[in-house]
Amino acid sequence: RAKEAGRSAVHLYDEDLRNSALRRLELESHLRGAAGRGELSLVYQPIVTLDDGRPVGVEALCRWNSPVLGSVPPDRFIQVAEDSGLIDEIGDFVLAEATRQIARWQAGGLLPPRFAVTINVSPIMLRAGLAAQVRDAVELAGVPAERLAIELTERLLISPTTEVSDELGQLRAAGHTLMLDDFGTGYSSLSSLARLPVDVVKVDRGFVAAMGSDRRAEGVVQAVLRLAQTLGMVAVAEGVETGEQAQRLLDLGCDRAQGWFYGRPVPPAEIETLLRAHGPVHVVG
Ligand code: C2E
Ligand code: MG
Ligand code: MG
Ligand code: MG
Repeated sequence: RAKEAGRSAVHLYDEDLRNSALRRLELESHLRGAAGRGELSLVYQPIVTLDDGRPVGVEALCRWNSPVLGSVPPDRFIQVAEDSGLIDEIGDFVLAEATRQIARWQAGGLLPPRFAVTINVSPIMLRAGLAAQVRDAVELAGVPAERLAIELTERLLISPTTEVSDELGQLRAAGHTLMLDDFGTGYSSLSSLARLPVDVVKVDRGFVAAMGSDRRAEGVVQAVLRLAQTLGMVAVAEGVETGEQAQRLLDLGCDRAQGWFYGRPVPPAEIETLLRAHGPVHVVG
């Protein structure tokens, strides 16, 4: 009996595995060519200063609307894309679309000084040639490098190669702001953070969410903020959903915030409304 039960458990496990493998394959086959078919788009979420709520930038987040699978969240397709090599296609789209959007906002005189659009770059794309690729996209769109910020995930710090630091150094020298996402969730060491040319750290939204109820989470937030300050970096808290969280982060010395309390990720037209509301806008560039 026990043996039978054991066998059926194994059988179920196999079935689960096969189903999830099939789902990934299905996702992958639909994702292939999605950019070329116009199924990808970018939405933008405001990043604001914590003291006065003024927008200082937006983060571009990728959306996939598949005619077959419907709208698929990035948490489901980015990993598949990274594993299957499709991330290059997506990354190319994100870079081209974000720089074109900057150009449109700039032409409309909508961008306040120092306002930047941040894109997420997968660790897989961060290898020799990324800096050149970004330079080409920025040139093609005709926008200043300062308008495009680059967000990297902490996963990258697990083994920062000299090649990676080299590309990052070039991007920064060109004028791009470099941000480190998911900070505090991974295994990066202090020394690797200090060695990388990063300007901004983002406090992971898991810590922000736990802050009110979990003193250790608040301790982590505090430590990250202090570390950022020591290293001369700006700190952005992610996933700020309530006024209490915003106030606590402000008290702890956090500079900037992003989250539903300030605004959800929205299509570009809604960012335009926000920018107009925050006028007078100084035309730059
Ligand atoms: P991320 O870079 O940490 O982006 C922030 C995520 O938090 C976004 O989820 C955003 O919609 C969500 N968020 C923002 N404010 C709040 C809040 O107040 N509460 C909650 N619960 N969530 C909030 P999204 O858009 O689903 O993206 C998920 C992840 O997928 C991103 O996490 C990023 O790692 C990845 N991703 C998204 N777009 C791209 C892209 O263009 N390229 C790459 N490589 N990765 C991307
Ligand atoms: Mg991000
Ligand atoms: Mg991220
Ligand atoms: Mg994050």
